[in-house]
Amino acid sequence: MMITGKTSLLGVIGYPISHSLSPVMHNAAIDYLGLNYVYVPLPIKPDHLATAVAGLAAIGLRGFNVTIPHKQAIMPLLTAVSPLAQAVGAVNTVWWTDTGWHGTNTDVAGFLSPLRSQEQDWTTMDALILGNGGAARAVVAGCGELGCSRIHIVGRDPQKLQAFVDSWAATPIADRLSIHPWETLPGLLPTAGLVVNTTPVGMAPQVDASPLDALALDALRPGTIVYDLIYTPRPTLLLRQAADRGAIVLDGLDMLVCQGAAALEIWIQQPAPLEIMGQALLTYLA
Ligand code: NAP
Repeated sequence: MMITGKTSLLGVIGYPISHSLSPVMHNAAIDYLGLNYVYVPLPIKPDHLATAVAGLAAIGLRGFNVTIPHKQAIMPLLTAVSPLAQAVGAVNTVWWTDTGWHGTNTDVAGFLSPLRSQEQDWTTMDALILGNGGAARAVVAGCGELGCSRIHIVGRDPQKLQAFVDSWAATPIADRLSIHPWETLPGLLPTAGLVVNTTPVGMAPQVDASPLDALALDALRPGTIVYDLIYTPRPTLLLRQAADRGAIVLDGLDMLVCQGAAALEIWIQQPAPLEIMGQALLTYLA
Protein backbone atom coordinates (compact mmCIF):
# COMPACT_ATOMS: atom_id res chain seq x y z
CA MET A 1 0.00 0.00 0.00
CA MET A 2 1.41 3.39 -0.98
CA ILE A 3 1.51 5.94 1.84
CA THR A 4 -0.25 9.09 0.64
CA GLY A 5 -1.45 12.36 2.17
CA LYS A 6 -4.69 10.55 3.09
CA THR A 7 -3.11 7.60 4.92
CA SER A 8 -4.50 7.01 8.43
CA LEU A 9 -2.22 6.01 11.28
CA LEU A 10 -2.43 3.04 13.65
CA GLY A 11 0.34 1.75 15.90
CA VAL A 12 1.56 -0.07 18.98
CA ILE A 13 3.04 1.62 22.06
CA GLY A 14 5.49 -0.15 24.36
CA TYR A 15 9.06 -0.01 25.62
CA PRO A 16 11.01 -1.63 24.15
CA ILE A 17 8.91 -2.24 21.04
CA SER A 18 11.36 -3.61 18.48
CA HIS A 19 10.35 -7.23 19.30
CA SER A 20 6.67 -6.59 18.55
CA LEU A 21 5.08 -8.79 15.87
CA SER A 22 1.99 -6.58 15.64
CA PRO A 23 3.25 -4.36 12.76
CA VAL A 24 3.87 -7.48 10.65
CA MET A 25 0.37 -8.91 10.99
CA HIS A 26 -1.54 -5.62 10.93
CA ASN A 27 0.21 -4.26 7.83
CA ALA A 28 -0.32 -7.61 6.07
CA ALA A 29 -4.05 -7.32 6.82
CA ILE A 30 -4.16 -3.66 5.75
CA ASP A 31 -2.44 -4.53 2.44
CA TYR A 32 -4.74 -7.47 1.82
CA LEU A 33 -7.88 -5.38 2.44
CA GLY A 34 -6.51 -2.49 0.33
CA LEU A 35 -7.03 0.02 3.15
CA ASN A 36 -5.24 3.38 3.28
CA TYR A 37 -3.77 2.80 6.75
CA VAL A 38 -0.30 2.17 8.11
CA TYR A 39 0.52 0.53 11.46
CA VAL A 40 3.77 1.66 13.10
CA PRO A 41 5.82 0.72 16.20
CA LEU A 42 5.93 3.57 18.73
CA PRO A 43 8.65 3.22 21.41
CA ILE A 44 7.41 5.24 24.38
CA LYS A 45 9.29 5.36 27.67
CA PRO A 46 7.16 5.05 30.84
CA ASP A 47 7.88 8.67 31.87
CA HIS A 48 6.54 9.92 28.53
CA LEU A 49 3.30 7.95 28.47
CA ALA A 50 0.85 10.77 29.30
CA THR A 51 2.55 13.22 26.91
CA ALA A 52 2.62 10.59 24.17
CA VAL A 53 -1.05 9.64 24.55
CA ALA A 54 -2.06 13.31 24.29
CA GLY A 55 0.29 13.69 21.31
CA LEU A 56 -1.18 10.67 19.54
CA ALA A 57 -4.60 12.34 19.81
CA ALA A 58 -3.12 15.61 18.51
CA ILE A 59 -1.73 13.93 15.38
CA GLY A 60 -5.01 12.15 14.69
CA LEU A 61 -3.91 8.54 15.24
CA ARG A 62 -7.03 6.36 14.82
CA GLY A 63 -6.07 3.74 17.37
CA PHE A 64 -3.24 1.78 18.88
CA ASN A 65 -2.26 -1.39 20.70
CA VAL A 66 -0.64 -1.24 24.12
CA THR A 67 2.05 -3.61 25.28
CA ILE A 68 4.54 -3.95 28.16
CA PRO A 69 5.04 -1.81 30.27
CA HIS A 70 1.97 0.38 29.60
CA LYS A 71 -1.01 -2.01 29.80
CA GLN A 72 -2.04 -0.90 33.33
CA ALA A 73 -0.55 2.60 33.35
CA ILE A 74 -2.60 3.69 30.34
CA MET A 75 -5.95 3.05 32.05
CA PRO A 76 -6.29 6.39 33.94
CA LEU A 77 -5.35 8.26 30.73
CA LEU A 78 -8.43 7.00 28.85
CA THR A 79 -11.93 8.52 28.91
CA ALA A 80 -13.56 5.07 28.95
CA VAL A 81 -12.35 1.57 29.76
CA SER A 82 -14.54 -1.48 28.94
CA PRO A 83 -15.83 -3.57 31.88
CA LEU A 84 -13.79 -6.52 30.54
CA ALA A 85 -10.54 -4.52 30.58
CA GLN A 86 -11.40 -3.31 34.08
CA ALA A 87 -11.87 -6.90 35.24
CA VAL A 88 -8.58 -7.98 33.64
CA GLY A 89 -6.88 -4.84 34.95
CA ALA A 90 -5.16 -4.15 31.63
CA VAL A 91 -5.87 -2.44 28.29
CA ASN A 92 -4.27 -3.64 25.06
CA THR A 93 -6.40 -1.82 22.48
CA VAL A 94 -7.29 1.88 22.28
CA TRP A 95 -9.35 3.80 19.72
CA TRP A 96 -10.25 7.45 19.21
CA THR A 97 -13.86 8.60 19.70
CA ASP A 98 -15.72 11.95 19.85
CA THR A 99 -15.18 11.91 23.61
CA GLY A 100 -11.53 10.88 23.61
CA TRP A 101 -9.58 7.61 23.85
CA HIS A 102 -11.52 4.44 24.70
CA GLY A 103 -9.79 1.21 25.69
CA THR A 104 -10.52 -2.49 25.94
CA ASN A 105 -8.72 -5.81 26.21
CA THR A 106 -8.74 -8.20 23.23
CA ASP A 107 -6.36 -10.75 24.84
CA VAL A 108 -9.35 -12.52 26.40
CA ALA A 109 -11.05 -12.94 22.99
CA GLY A 110 -7.70 -14.05 21.56
CA PHE A 111 -7.20 -16.62 24.32
CA LEU A 112 -10.74 -17.98 23.90
CA SER A 113 -10.69 -18.20 20.11
CA PRO A 114 -8.99 -21.63 19.69
CA LEU A 115 -10.99 -23.02 22.65
CA ARG A 116 -14.34 -22.07 21.11
CA SER A 117 -13.84 -24.64 18.36
CA GLN A 118 -13.37 -27.45 20.93
CA GLU A 119 -16.53 -29.36 21.76
CA GLN A 120 -16.30 -29.44 25.54
CA ASP A 121 -18.57 -28.96 28.51
CA TRP A 122 -16.51 -26.25 30.18
CA THR A 123 -18.90 -25.94 33.11
CA THR A 124 -17.84 -29.35 34.46
CA MET A 125 -14.16 -28.69 33.83
CA ASP A 126 -11.37 -27.52 36.15
CA ALA A 127 -8.78 -25.18 34.66
CA LEU A 128 -5.19 -25.12 35.86
CA ILE A 129 -3.16 -22.01 35.09
CA LEU A 130 0.64 -22.02 35.38
CA GLY A 131 1.92 -18.54 36.30
CA ASN A 132 0.33 -15.40 37.71
CA GLY A 133 1.65 -12.56 35.53
CA GLY A 134 -0.02 -10.29 32.96
CA ALA A 135 -1.16 -12.96 30.49
CA ALA A 136 -2.59 -15.06 33.35
CA ARG A 137 -5.07 -12.25 34.02
CA ALA A 138 -6.60 -12.56 30.54
CA VAL A 139 -6.60 -16.36 30.93
CA VAL A 140 -8.45 -16.18 34.27
CA ALA A 141 -11.06 -13.85 32.73
CA GLY A 142 -11.35 -16.22 29.75
CA CYS A 143 -11.78 -19.31 31.96
CA GLY A 144 -14.39 -17.36 33.92
CA GLU A 145 -16.24 -16.58 30.67
CA LEU A 146 -16.10 -20.26 29.62
CA GLY A 147 -17.73 -21.12 32.94
CA CYS A 148 -14.97 -23.46 34.21
CA SER A 149 -16.08 -24.92 37.53
CA ARG A 150 -12.77 -24.31 39.33
CA ILE A 151 -9.80 -22.15 38.28
CA HIS A 152 -6.56 -23.21 39.97
CA ILE A 153 -3.58 -20.87 39.70
CA VAL A 154 -0.12 -22.26 40.36
CA GLY A 155 2.80 -19.90 41.01
CA ARG A 156 6.24 -19.82 42.55
CA ASP A 157 5.98 -16.64 44.66
CA PRO A 158 3.40 -16.90 47.52
CA GLN A 159 3.10 -13.13 47.93
CA LYS A 160 2.49 -12.49 44.23
CA LEU A 161 0.00 -15.38 44.16
CA GLN A 162 -1.92 -13.93 47.09
CA ALA A 163 -1.97 -10.45 45.53
CA PHE A 164 -3.17 -12.00 42.27
CA VAL A 165 -6.09 -13.84 43.84
CA ASP A 166 -6.97 -10.83 46.03
CA SER A 167 -7.26 -8.65 42.93
CA TRP A 168 -10.24 -10.78 41.77
CA ALA A 169 -12.02 -10.59 45.15
CA ALA A 170 -14.75 -8.21 43.98
CA THR A 171 -15.54 -10.14 40.77
CA PRO A 172 -18.14 -12.88 40.16
CA ILE A 173 -15.41 -15.50 39.61
CA ALA A 174 -13.70 -14.97 42.99
CA ASP A 175 -15.31 -18.02 44.58
CA ARG A 176 -14.07 -20.29 41.77
CA LEU A 177 -10.40 -19.22 42.12
CA SER A 178 -7.76 -20.90 44.25
CA ILE A 179 -3.97 -20.57 44.47
CA HIS A 180 -1.36 -23.28 44.89
CA PRO A 181 2.41 -23.64 45.19
CA TRP A 182 4.31 -25.22 42.30
CA GLU A 183 5.04 -28.47 44.21
CA THR A 184 1.32 -29.37 44.31
CA LEU A 185 1.07 -29.75 40.51
CA PRO A 186 1.13 -33.59 40.45
CA GLY A 187 -1.90 -33.61 42.77
CA LEU A 188 -3.81 -31.00 40.74
CA LEU A 189 -3.20 -32.28 37.20
CA PRO A 190 -5.35 -35.46 37.31
CA THR A 191 -8.54 -33.40 37.78
CA ALA A 192 -7.66 -30.62 35.32
CA GLY A 193 -9.41 -30.64 31.92
CA LEU A 194 -7.59 -27.52 30.72
CA VAL A 195 -3.97 -26.66 31.55
CA VAL A 196 -2.64 -23.27 30.42
CA ASN A 197 1.02 -22.29 30.53
CA THR A 198 1.28 -18.52 30.98
CA THR A 199 4.94 -18.60 32.07
CA PRO A 200 7.76 -17.95 29.60
CA VAL A 201 9.31 -21.36 30.45
CA GLY A 202 10.06 -23.08 27.13
CA MET A 203 10.09 -19.91 25.06
CA ALA A 204 12.99 -19.43 22.61
CA PRO A 205 15.90 -19.43 23.25
CA GLN A 206 15.17 -21.73 26.29
CA VAL A 207 13.54 -24.32 24.03
CA ASP A 208 14.69 -27.31 26.14
CA ALA A 209 12.77 -26.14 29.24
CA SER A 210 9.27 -27.26 30.25
CA PRO A 211 7.12 -25.98 33.14
CA LEU A 212 6.09 -29.59 33.95
CA ASP A 213 8.67 -32.01 35.37
CA ALA A 214 8.50 -35.79 34.90
CA LEU A 215 6.35 -36.31 38.00
CA ALA A 216 3.82 -33.71 36.86
CA LEU A 217 3.75 -35.07 33.29
CA ASP A 218 2.92 -38.54 34.61
CA ALA A 219 -0.13 -37.03 36.32
CA LEU A 220 -1.51 -35.56 33.07
CA ARG A 221 -4.62 -37.40 31.81
CA PRO A 222 -5.04 -38.26 28.10
CA GLY A 223 -7.61 -35.88 26.56
CA THR A 224 -6.59 -32.93 28.75
CA ILE A 225 -6.34 -29.71 26.74
CA VAL A 226 -2.83 -28.31 27.18
CA TYR A 227 -2.59 -24.73 25.93
CA ASP A 228 0.81 -23.02 25.84
CA LEU A 229 0.61 -19.25 25.23
CA ILE A 230 4.15 -19.33 23.82
CA TYR A 231 4.33 -19.08 20.01
CA THR A 232 8.10 -19.52 19.48
CA PRO A 233 8.98 -22.35 19.17
CA ARG A 234 5.95 -24.15 17.74
CA PRO A 235 5.44 -26.56 19.37
CA THR A 236 7.16 -26.03 22.72
CA LEU A 237 8.69 -28.93 24.65
CA LEU A 238 5.62 -28.86 26.94
CA LEU A 239 3.27 -29.38 23.99
CA ARG A 240 5.40 -32.20 22.58
CA GLN A 241 5.48 -33.92 25.97
CA ALA A 242 1.73 -33.42 26.43
CA ALA A 243 0.89 -34.71 22.92
CA ASP A 244 2.98 -37.83 23.64
CA ARG A 245 0.68 -38.46 26.63
CA GLY A 246 -2.50 -38.13 24.57
CA ALA A 247 -3.35 -34.50 25.38
CA ILE A 248 -5.06 -32.09 22.97
CA VAL A 249 -2.46 -29.35 22.40
CA LEU A 250 -2.84 -25.68 21.44
CA ASP A 251 -0.05 -23.11 20.98
CA GLY A 252 -0.10 -19.33 21.31
CA LEU A 253 -0.15 -18.31 17.66
CA ASP A 254 -3.95 -18.32 17.30
CA MET A 255 -4.25 -16.20 20.44
CA LEU A 256 -1.74 -13.71 19.07
CA VAL A 257 -3.52 -13.48 15.71
CA CYS A 258 -7.02 -13.36 17.20
CA GLN A 259 -6.25 -10.61 19.73
CA GLY A 260 -4.77 -8.59 16.84
CA ALA A 261 -7.74 -9.30 14.59
CA ALA A 262 -10.19 -8.23 17.32
CA ALA A 263 -8.29 -4.94 17.68
CA LEU A 264 -8.18 -4.32 13.92
CA GLU A 265 -11.92 -4.91 13.67
CA ILE A 266 -12.53 -2.19 16.26
CA TRP A 267 -10.46 0.29 14.20
CA ILE A 268 -11.61 -0.56 10.66
CA GLN A 269 -15.15 -1.77 11.45
CA GLN A 270 -14.96 -4.77 9.11
CA PRO A 271 -13.86 -8.41 9.45
CA ALA A 272 -10.10 -8.94 9.73
CA PRO A 273 -8.38 -11.52 7.46
CA LEU A 274 -7.24 -14.03 10.11
CA GLU A 275 -5.46 -16.38 7.71
CA ILE A 276 -3.48 -13.57 6.07
CA MET A 277 -2.41 -12.28 9.49
CA GLY A 278 -1.36 -15.75 10.67
CA GLN A 279 0.51 -16.49 7.47
CA ALA A 280 2.38 -13.15 7.66
CA LEU A 281 3.52 -14.03 11.18
CA LEU A 282 4.61 -17.54 10.23
CA THR A 283 6.62 -16.21 7.27
CA TYR A 284 8.24 -13.55 9.44
CA LEU A 285 9.02 -15.96 12.32
CA ALA A 286 10.52 -18.49 9.90
P1 NAP B 1 4.79 -11.82 32.97
O1 NAP B 1 3.77 -10.80 33.33
O2 NAP B 1 6.23 -11.55 33.18
O3 NAP B 1 4.39 -13.17 33.79
C1 NAP B 1 5.17 -14.34 33.72
C2 NAP B 1 4.73 -15.31 34.81
O4 NAP B 1 5.54 -16.49 34.67
C3 NAP B 1 4.95 -14.80 36.25
O5 NAP B 1 3.93 -15.28 37.08
C4 NAP B 1 6.29 -15.45 36.62
O6 NAP B 1 6.42 -15.72 37.99
C5 NAP B 1 6.16 -16.79 35.91
N1 NAP B 1 7.47 -17.38 35.66
C6 NAP B 1 8.52 -16.83 35.00
N2 NAP B 1 9.55 -17.69 34.98
C7 NAP B 1 9.15 -18.79 35.68
C8 NAP B 1 9.78 -20.03 36.03
N3 NAP B 1 11.04 -20.30 35.65
N4 NAP B 1 9.07 -20.93 36.75
C9 NAP B 1 7.82 -20.66 37.13
N5 NAP B 1 7.17 -19.51 36.84
C10 NAP B 1 7.82 -18.60 36.12
O7 NAP B 1 4.67 -12.25 31.43
P2 NAP B 1 3.33 -12.29 30.53
O8 NAP B 1 3.17 -11.02 29.82
O9 NAP B 1 2.23 -12.81 31.37
O10 NAP B 1 3.77 -13.37 29.41
C11 NAP B 1 4.00 -14.70 29.78
C12 NAP B 1 4.16 -15.58 28.54
O11 NAP B 1 2.95 -15.57 27.78
C13 NAP B 1 5.27 -15.15 27.59
O12 NAP B 1 5.89 -16.31 27.09
C14 NAP B 1 4.52 -14.45 26.47
O13 NAP B 1 5.19 -14.55 25.22
C15 NAP B 1 3.23 -15.25 26.43
N6 NAP B 1 2.12 -14.46 25.89
C16 NAP B 1 1.55 -14.88 24.74
C17 NAP B 1 0.50 -14.17 24.21
C18 NAP B 1 -0.14 -14.63 22.93
O14 NAP B 1 -0.86 -13.86 22.31
N7 NAP B 1 0.07 -15.85 22.52
C19 NAP B 1 0.02 -13.03 24.87
C20 NAP B 1 0.63 -12.63 26.06
C21 NAP B 1 1.68 -13.36 26.57
P3 NAP B 1 6.93 -14.60 39.03
O15 NAP B 1 5.78 -13.64 39.13
O16 NAP B 1 7.19 -15.38 40.25
O17 NAP B 1 8.15 -13.96 38.41
